[in-house]
Amino acid sequence: MSLLARDRHRIISEARDQGLLDPDTAPIAAFIDWDSVRTGVDELLHAFPTHVPVSHCFAVKANSIPTVVSALVQMGLATEVASDGELAVALSTGIDPGRIVFDSPAKTRRELASALQLGVSINIDNFQEFDRIRELKDQIESTSQLGFRVNPQIGAGSIKEMSTASDYSKFGVALKTGTNRQELIQAYLDHPWLNQLHCHVGSQGMSLDSMVTGAKLLSELATEINERVGRTQVHTLDIGGGLPVNFGSDERTPTFTDYAHLLAEHAPLLFSGEFTVKTEFGRSILAKHGFIASFVEYTKNAGDRRIAISHAGAQVATRTIFMPAAWPLRVEVLDPTAAPRDPERTQQHDVAGPCCFSGDVVAHRIQLPRVEQGDILVFPDTGAYYPSNPFSYNSLAQPGVYGVTGHETFTVLRAPREDPSLFSPDWPLRLDQGGTNQPMAHSWPAALL
Ligand SMILES: *Cc1c(COP(=O)(O)O)cnc(C)c1O
Repeated sequence: MSLLARDRHRIISEARDQGLLDPDTAPIAAFIDWDSVRTGVDELLHAFPTHVPVSHCFAVKANSIPTVVSALVQMGLATEVASDGELAVALSTGIDPGRIVFDSPAKTRRELASALQLGVSINIDNFQEFDRIRELKDQIESTSQLGFRVNPQIGAGSIKEMSTASDYSKFGVALKTGTNRQELIQAYLDHPWLNQLHCHVGSQGMSLDSMVTGAKLLSELATEINERVGRTQVHTLDIGGGLPVNFGSDERTPTFTDYAHLLAEHAPLLFSGEFTVKTEFGRSILAKHGFIASFVEYTKNAGDRRIAISHAGAQVATRTIFMPAAWPLRVEVLDPTAAPRDPERTQQHDVAGPCCFSGDVVAHRIQLPRVEQGDILVFPDTGAYYPSNPFSYNSLAQPGVYGVTGHETFTVLRAPREDPSLFSPDWPLRLDQGGTNQPMAHSWPAALL
């Protein structure tokens, strides 16, 4: 089941009636439909063969709002984090630290020590990090599962900034470069506590073929190591995330099941039963189940097109604004009562945001029903990486993010926040009053102020 246009429009109509979306007090808001998320998560939890032990982690960077991560953990997902901040979010859900995976190409000694102390699993990015882990392991008794992240160097996808398996990727041990592969294998032979391997070939724009190839090479490398040591030393394979999301329609393709079938066919060692399989999906867990809605403040004509200015710009759609060709978004036009505008009467529009730079345009030269002042624009597929990763240009307020069930019952996932530069030292208290961000109250201000 996907979240469909009519569901979005019904949710917006309810949100308007309940004052969550209001031309004066809340001109922009974001929504995540939990019924739809749950269907997707259930599909994932049943997609892989039942004889294989699996741990599906949610990549916290895709939406690090603590209440969101907590809901996903309750649905049965583990977590993948890449900083102390994300680790704090994951821990705040009450998850067993052993079900957290720590990635990041720039882990500090302090981060490594606390991950080891907590028993968080670490994907070691490079040989220097490995040296640090060895030193720390002499001082800290740890239950952490440990192994290397590898870069199979199988080529980039269609968005080169999102590919992590190109020849020059900054992530992991580049397997085809110099003597890296032999050194890596030797490290496993010399250190029996290295018991997992990780690879994440990229996010969005990667073909399923490259993802499957990455998993295949990973399982072959693990098998080679295990054969050389004569036992199953490497018992866990973390194949990363990166399942691409369809931003072009309401259809959810490819599905987790499609991916699992391809893995079974082309990377059969992965599902041999010898390995526990971990995944780290982010975008595909949430993107299609969330959307942004904003009132149109003004419209005007310029050159050959109509310009609609809403409150959704770079602060909530950073990637789309800076790389419009790589990250196009769809736009739906509703009248002020949340009824769809006549699709027959279209015109060419630029859909612009509130930021003070001319590139702050979410959609260029897009055919849309004629937009009028006071209309509501909907930006589907923005449940991951959009309003949850705000950009603080112009000190714009951060919109509220709301969870929805039954298309009409709302919970506050993140309360709307005023201009972050106005936050006083008592800011954490204000967050607490919202009741949604308590676990973060201790770690955010120090980082931000
Ligand atoms: C970003 C990232 C993910 C999640 O990628 P998605 O495209 O959101 O599925 C998983 N693993 C690692 C290491 C990442 O950096």
